[in-house]
Amino acid sequence: MEKKTLLTGDRPTGPLHIGHYFGSLQNRVAMQNDFDSYIMVADVQALTDNFNQPERVRENVLEVAMDNIAAGVDPKKSTLFIQSQIPQIAELTVFYSNLITINTLKRNPTVKAEIAEKKELFGQDGESVTYGFLGYPVSQAADITIVRAHIVPVGEDQLPMIETTREIVERFHRMYQCDIFPLPQAKLSNSPRIIGLDGSGKMSKSLNNAVYLKDNPETTLEKIKSAKTDSGTTIEFNPKERPEISNLVLIYALIHNQNPKDAASELKHNTYSEFKLKLAGDLNRHLAPFRAKRLELEAKPHYVKEILEMGRQRVIEKAEETMKLVREAMKINY
Ligand code: ATP
Ligand code: MG
Repeated sequence: MEKKTLLTGDRPTGPLHIGHYFGSLQNRVAMQNDFDSYIMVADVQALTDNFNQPERVRENVLEVAMDNIAAGVDPKKSTLFIQSQIPQIAELTVFYSNLITINTLKRNPTVKAEIAEKKELFGQDGESVTYGFLGYPVSQAADITIVRAHIVPVGEDQLPMIETTREIVERFHRMYQCDIFPLPQAKLSNSPRIIGLDGSGKMSKSLNNAVYLKDNPETTLEKIKSAKTDSGTTIEFNPKERPEISNLVLIYALIHNQNPKDAASELKHNTYSEFKLKLAGDLNRHLAPFRAKRLELEAKPHYVKEILEMGRQRVIEKAEETMKLVREAMKINY
């Protein structure tokens, strides 16, 4: 039986953090045996809110690629590639932009929250939001469908994007009377949302509230020690009422492959500071093999670039196949 196709990716806005690790990298590594896997470094998407600092995006392309490989993404099994190197994605985005209304994009809850976070870029009430940023879910629909993906492993914040992709695919098929794409499905991991160390809704590269996978043990310890907690004294797992301490318990449980409630009851005799020390030590031990592999990769950037070039070639071939079908369906195959 032919393998189904998987696409997922990361924005090169910074090195990856433990939210990515537990939320998506582990999943990718586990799934690469059973799926024809594509992993995209989303530089074009990163530019939608970093258009004024292209060097930031450029610097982080290799960082994100190295994080994936160090976490166990195997270039023999997964195709790792850079979004901007596939011009067919841009072409498909243009066609899709006719199939969605501006109002639908404005209502997307993730886009809304991100516009509100980026006031210096998009204005106090989002009045200066760009066409490109508002439209990034459309471009994401093109990323997913250019390889005709069936499954898209993502964190919780990306669910509305997959919904938009499904709407666009259905409309495309109906409008142009064809059946080119599988209807893609989101796949959430067991930890679809790690919150920030500052207690904010999501650990994120852009918010400076993360333990980066490549952080050294001392930095990791400092960050965990100063992670925000409530003024309580008992350790429990109760994300609704006590989100910060519960998030730390969740990270501990993920390291130990435990149910977070069991982890909390095992930890209940610890003070907050004892628990934080234990957590930082365990996290450092858990990430040691990753960090060793990451240092090896940092010493051979050419090897990483070769992997991305191999990926480009593979994706271009599939993308052109897709676009032939699309142009034919849209009657622009002159
Ligand atoms: P940025 O702030 O630039 O958007 P990010 O930290 O949100 O960066 P992305 O590259 O946008 O990272 O996301 C890559 C993948 O990781 C997505 O599938 C996203 O849902 C998932 N992800 C991001 N942050 C978390 C988190 N805190 N917990 C679990 N999954 C996450
Ligand atoms: Mg993001």
